[in-house]
Amino acid sequence: MVCKKIYLSPSNQVGNMYAVGNVSEKEVMEEIANHLREILINEYGCDTLIAPSSLGVRERPQDALDNNAEVYLALHSNAGGGRTASGAIAFYHPNDEDSRRLAANIVAELNKISQYPSNRIDPVRSGMEVFNNQGYYEIRVPNELGLIPVLVEIDFHDNPLTARYLIDNTYEIAQALARAIDSSFNLRNKRRYIMSFTRRKGKNRP
Ligand SMILES: [Zn+2]
Repeated sequence: MVCKKIYLSPSNQVGNMYAVGNVSEKEVMEEIANHLREILINEYGCDTLIAPSSLGVRERPQDALDNNAEVYLALHSNAGGGRTASGAIAFYHPNDEDSRRLAANIVAELNKISQYPSNRIDPVRSGMEVFNNQGYYEIRVPNELGLIPVLVEIDFHDNPLTARYLIDNTYEIAQALARAIDSSFNLRNKRRYIMSFTRRKGKNRP
């Protein structure tokens, strides 16, 4: 199976400051996006691009389409849990089974690596029920354009413990996201692919 082309949309919310570390949601999500892009390209041979930070979220779904992306992954960290909430939440489009499966796999992989157990009761959710059923822009519009959307809230940045976890584990978080994408779409591991290609070539050689 050929790799899906992935478009990453890290939060550009520079005003969302973390409870510790003097960093913003934008900075941490961009760092995770950079790691995830490298992992998907180098370890999975999977074409991946990151939304330019100059583009607002309302311009990004069209940018993804213009670049022939198939999966639209919006990366966020969460707030509003009274400084004690923890755990990943991922939003999917209810019309799209691929979107729902990717959201479920992302939550499962993220919750595996965090030392702070999730206290979320409904971590895999439709992204179309918020805002009077208008849904998240980055769920509704990519779906309308034929992309597979997921918006993930990786963990809570207003909880000092999980804020520190987010800051200190950007690479591990990116690896978990890559594993979730892999298990959702059966991406071919680049090394396995090259090895089997070399074997095939060797066999056919006269
Ligand atoms: Zn956000």
